[in-house]
Amino acid sequence: MAPAHPQFVLYNTLERRAEPVNPADPEAVTVYSCGPTVYDDAHIGNFRSFLAADVLRRWLESPLCTLTDDAGRAHAGPRQVTHVMNITDVGHMTDDSSADGGGEDKMELAARRLQESKKAGTAHATADIDPTDPKQIADFYTARFAADARALGLKVALQASDDPTLLPRATDAVPGMIAMIGKLIDRGHAYAVGETGAQTVYFDVQSFPDYGSLSGNTLERLKSGAGGRVESSHQAEKKHPADFLLWKTDPTHKMKWDSPWGSGYPGWHIECTAMSLERLAEPIGRHDIDIHTGGEDNIFPHHECEHAQSCGLTGHSTFARHWMHARFLQVEGEKMSKSTGNFFTARDLFAKGHSPAAVRFELIKTHYRANANFTEQSLTDAAKRLERWRTALRACDDANGPGDRADDARAEFAAAMADDLNVAGAIAAVDRLRSRIASGEIEAGSDTAQTLRDFDAVLGVVELGGGSGPTEMEVAVFADGVEPDAAIDARLIERRDAKKAKDFAKADAIRDELAGMGLAILDRPGGKVEVRRS
Ligand code: AMP
Ligand code: ZN
Repeated sequence: MAPAHPQFVLYNTLERRAEPVNPADPEAVTVYSCGPTVYDDAHIGNFRSFLAADVLRRWLESPLCTLTDDAGRAHAGPRQVTHVMNITDVGHMTDDSSADGGGEDKMELAARRLQESKKAGTAHATADIDPTDPKQIADFYTARFAADARALGLKVALQASDDPTLLPRATDAVPGMIAMIGKLIDRGHAYAVGETGAQTVYFDVQSFPDYGSLSGNTLERLKSGAGGRVESSHQAEKKHPADFLLWKTDPTHKMKWDSPWGSGYPGWHIECTAMSLERLAEPIGRHDIDIHTGGEDNIFPHHECEHAQSCGLTGHSTFARHWMHARFLQVEGEKMSKSTGNFFTARDLFAKGHSPAAVRFELIKTHYRANANFTEQSLTDAAKRLERWRTALRACDDANGPGDRADDARAEFAAAMADDLNVAGAIAAVDRLRSRIASGEIEAGSDTAQTLRDFDAVLGVVELGGGSGPTEMEVAVFADGVEPDAAIDARLIERRDAKKAKDFAKADAIRDELAGMGLAILDRPGGKVEVRRS
């Protein structure tokens, strides 16, 4: 039978071309995304990458998405997707382009920063955290990441409320990493240097001829320093300058584990090999995962190293069947940076009154393989456009009868998404259907509403924070009749932090601001705040 819609074609970084997505099982797809390093709040650039992965997984789940199997048979959606996103809470060094894992562990940097801000009396949000305990810092930022991610409709984070194994933490996976490093040594892909009990373990890149295939690097170029600085102090003990760290013995590191090589911590790259294979491949008896995602900076060295380790471990030439990488987000045409004041976290934008739906729309609307340019002005435009989409959906819900299913719009949307996730084309399809509904050109009804909902299940913007399910809030508890709103929750988080810092003027100003919106707030035991209509 001919497929109802064109098959899904996605750019594969490894092959440097767009290819049909060909999972091991077209009815049940596995997706692994490199998640945040929880030493600070995730910024909107991070969320651009995470949302690109979320749109991918939502598209795979859609009834409109068709995949083909090895025999060339078409499989129409919907299908099951298992999506895992890791939380990095150890071993990600500040100099993460260096093969040696140079610089400082980002979690230890966070501890130092927190200590300094406590001394200076500016540690508002983090007032209750013990800076000498990286676990407390990781817990704090992981909870905030999960809250922001849920507000932005990241399905993996919404599902993780019931199944935390979908957001696995690196520190929970260290025993598996130690076992994998031992196996890599046994298989001749890794070697330990130094005295017994104080050893460093490196991956031997020359043992894996395919090293460089993902990023286009060659061992010759890497030897001359391309693709990342190499710490000279480690050169003498390595077989090749590009050999990268698997285990570092370091009794002074705050987070450390016993291992056959000494007490220390794992390299960053082995974390994702462990978590992806353990969570997604091994439970179904496979050696590979279907799609691996990340931002463009992950291609080298992180994913190149992950590919080498994973293939070295399993003895297969494939680890991820498809590699997807999102290009970087710029803000107001420039690189995001704290010094130029164009640096935003998701919660910064919620606190300024922008809705999570508008933020999500802005972060997904540009093709994931083009640099996106984020402006605050376009957030306002996005909010207006989403209001028009909601009005169209209400008109369909309010009409009697099934109305027109708008198969031509479904085909247009599906063709755009199947073409390497052309979200801009998909948005144009929604816009056109909306204007036909508004003008009465097509008959609106429950079937038309279903088509709009099928589109929104992929884009995730129309019903975000509205009727599409619970949006979990960190502080706010919304009374009956008050629409749950992550922006209000973000303001209440700021108020809580202001009170902790004894900045009562700021706390009162936030109360007044909400009163101006017709909302009364009531402090409840346990730190929650009830929001009612006044
Ligand atoms: P990190 O928390 O530094 O480990 O980064 C988490 C993810 O965000 C990685 O996949 C990065 O590639 C991605 N990322 C970082 N900055 C940006 C940016 N400006 N635009 C898009 N993705 C980014
Ligand atoms: Zn990773």
